[in-house]
Amino acid sequence: AKVRVGLLFGGCSGEHEVSIFSAQAIARGLASGADKYDVVPVYIRKDGVWVVDAHGVLTAGKPLAVGEGAVSPMDRIPASIPEIDIWFPVLHGPNGEDGTIQGLLELMQMPYVGCGVLASAVGMDKLAMKSAFAQVGLPQVKYMEVLRSQVYSNPCVFPKLCDDIETTLGYPCFVKPANLGSSVGIAKAKDRQELEAALDSAASYDRRIIVEAGVVAREVECAILGNDNPKASVIGEISFDADFYDYETKYTSGQAELAIPAKLPPDVVNTIQEQAIQAFQAIDGAGLSRVDFFYIEATGEVLINEINTFPGFTATSMYPMLWQATGVEFEQLIDRLIQLGMERTANTS
Ligand code: ATP
Ligand code: MG
Ligand code: MG
Ligand code: MG
Repeated sequence: AKVRVGLLFGGCSGEHEVSIFSAQAIARGLASGADKYDVVPVYIRKDGVWVVDAHGVLTAGKPLAVGEGAVSPMDRIPASIPEIDIWFPVLHGPNGEDGTIQGLLELMQMPYVGCGVLASAVGMDKLAMKSAFAQVGLPQVKYMEVLRSQVYSNPCVFPKLCDDIETTLGYPCFVKPANLGSSVGIAKAKDRQELEAALDSAASYDRRIIVEAGVVAREVECAILGNDNPKASVIGEISFDADFYDYETKYTSGQAELAIPAKLPPDVVNTIQEQAIQAFQAIDGAGLSRVDFFYIEATGEVLINEINTFPGFTATSMYPMLWQATGVEFEQLIDRLIQLGMERTANTS
C-alpha cells in the first residue's frame, strides 16, 4: 500500500507564503515517487483554521483569505482528519517550526518528519538556542536578553537598558524578536535612536527579544540530515548587496547569490561541519536542520549564528541544494526524511 503523507503547510506565521512554496516543492518531490506516496495536503490558514482538502491551495500557490475554505473557526483543528501514515510539517516560524504542531502530533500519536517538540522549541527561541550552544562551547557573538516589559517600561528602565546595551555590545547591534524567522522584525541599529526604534519594533513581535553584537563576516550555512547519527552537507555561502540578509533580500529573486560549495579552506569546512552537528545535537535535533554561521575571514573565526529546524525547502532553497551538491537528490532527500521520521517514532514507542 502507498504511504499517505499529510503535508501540513501555510500556518500562522510571517513565513506563511514561504511555507506554501516549500510545500509545493515537497509535493512535487513526493509525486515523482507516485508509486510510493499519496499526498494529502492540509492547509493552515493565516488565522489558524485548518483546511483539510487543500489541493487547490497547493496548486494555486496563494494563501486563502480568512473566511475562505468553508470551515467554521470552531473547527480550528478539524474533529476528523484524513487517515495519515506520516505528517510532514512544512511550516516555518512560530506555530509550526516551534514545537507547537509537533506537540499536537505527539498527542495524536502520529509519526511526523523532522525535529521533535524540544528541538523545535529550543531551535525557534534564539535565547534558549544560544544557551544550548554556549553549553557545548560553541563560539558565538556576544548578546543580551531583553523582555518586552523592559521596553515598555519607559521612562523607568528603558534608558538604563539602552545604556547597558551600548556599553556591553556597542554599535552596530542586531535587535531580533527571539521567536521568528526570515529576518522578520530584525533591525540593525547604528546609533541610540535606531536602537530605541528597533527595540520598540521587536517588542511588537515577541515578548522575548535578543540583542546581538554585529559582526562583519561571510555568511555560510550547513545542512544536517539524520537522527542520532546526523550527517553534515557541504557548505554554502550567501552573498548579497544589502545592509544585511533581510526579508526582501531573501525572497526577491536575483538579490542574493548562493555559492555551493563555498570557497573555504578545508580546515574551516571541517570546523563548520563539526559545529553544525554539535549544534544539532545540542538542541536534540532530529531529521533535518540548517545551521547558519558567520565566518570572519581576517581572523579565521567561525561563529555560529543560529539553527533552523525547518529551513526553506523550495527547489532553489539552500537546504535541498546543499544536499544535492553532497550527492542526495531532492526526491531522495524527501524519502530519507520520511524514513527518518518513521524510525524516530518506532524507536520511542
Ligand atoms: P532565517 O530566515 O535564516 O531563519 P532569522 O530570521 O532567524 O533568519 P538571523 O539568521 O538570525 O534571522 O539573521 C538574519 C540576518 O541578519 C543574517 O543572515 C545576517 O545577514 C544578519 N545578522 C543577524 N545577526 C547578525 C549579527 N550578530 N551580526 C551581523 N549580521 C547579523
Ligand atoms: Mg532562523
Ligand atoms: Mg528560519
Ligand atoms: Mg538565518
